[in-house]
Amino acid sequence: MTALASVPDAATGHGPRLEVDLTAVAANTRLFCSRTDAQVMAVVKADGFGHGAGDVARTALANGATSLGVTSIAEALALRAEGLDAPVLSWLNPLEAAYDDALAADIDLAVPSREHLDVVVAAAHRSSVQRPARIHLHLDTGMARDGAEPSAWPRLCRAARRAERAGLVRVVGVMGHLGCADAPSDDCNALGRRRFAWGLEIARSAGLHPGQRHLAATAATLLDARSHHTTVRVGAGLVGIDPSRTTPLRPALTLTAPVVTVRRVRAGTGVGYGHTWTAPQSTHLALLPLGYADGLPRVASGRAEVLVRGRRRPLVGRISMDQVVVDLGDDPVQPGETATVLGPGDAGEPTVAEWAAWSDTIEHEVVTGLGSRARARRTVLPAVASHLRSLP
Ligand SMILES: *Cc1c(COP(=O)(O)O)cnc(C)c1O
Repeated sequence: MTALASVPDAATGHGPRLEVDLTAVAANTRLFCSRTDAQVMAVVKADGFGHGAGDVARTALANGATSLGVTSIAEALALRAEGLDAPVLSWLNPLEAAYDDALAADIDLAVPSREHLDVVVAAAHRSSVQRPARIHLHLDTGMARDGAEPSAWPRLCRAARRAERAGLVRVVGVMGHLGCADAPSDDCNALGRRRFAWGLEIARSAGLHPGQRHLAATAATLLDARSHHTTVRVGAGLVGIDPSRTTPLRPALTLTAPVVTVRRVRAGTGVGYGHTWTAPQSTHLALLPLGYADGLPRVASGRAEVLVRGRRRPLVGRISMDQVVVDLGDDPVQPGETATVLGPGDAGEPTVAEWAAWSDTIEHEVVTGLGSRARARRTVLPAVASHLRSLP
């Protein structure tokens, strides 16, 4: 199963091509299912980490995952619009989000505060759907990021129980998240597990019976069975990213680009903006039609390589917005030949992990950046003549 996604001209087949190997997603999903007795929630936020949320979701569900997780209600609704009817949890929304739409589409909502509980309850009250809102109370288990602070937790649990008795919500889950799961010996993990256990105790003593209890993401699923509880939320791992560095997952992306032109240059020729690279001797340079606007991090300039004709070649000069230059040496590569910018590494091409290292970042940022160009959501504000007049 291979899905073709994005990047310019993928439809015409002429530009760079970003290929998504759903067989890899299927294999990774199965591996995660085999590593835990818990249910696997497939996390497909950020358009399935740039791989296509619908494709990754369908593949994961067909290979053992039992539910889906995303950040925003908008992402959850997009999955419904694609015809996915599995349980979907959305865990991060502002107070003014589209809760009515979420309830109408039967989306589970994480509730991180009393204020959020109130808006969900109000939406459930208005709802024409005759069923309680399904909520997962979200506890901050040690990141000081999302989730309720422990000091607010007991009251949140009691309020949720009252709303449950009133028939407006059902607390189907409790969730937390670990901040240092890729470093299993870090005390932060033990603290997170203890806080989560405490949070469950409090929830039960408030009379709640959350059937889904989830704390682990990819790294903790691979490294720490004590964090699995009833459900693990796996995102990066599905697309072949292993923050635990312990498990042979299969990368799912391949990015290729055609050579547009080849030129011969003399020693001393400066290449690209700022001439950050100068040919030390005469050589051949190939032009590829993609750059940082396609998600190649500009900071990888001077470090990155691509595969052309079976050999690694350096990108030289700065990565531009939509073009990069490859030093071919004396190989007679022709325009129209294909360069592999990244892939699983089978043929010696660079991997997402290498691009991440060249860019001083993590693989997650590389893949979400690559997937974003064609699928970027844009809000277009029309030009307003009266505002134009007031501009200098
Ligand atoms: C992104 C995210 C996940 C998935 O994390 P991975 O490390 O990519 O598996 C799980 N839970 C929450 C709350 C997240 O934000």
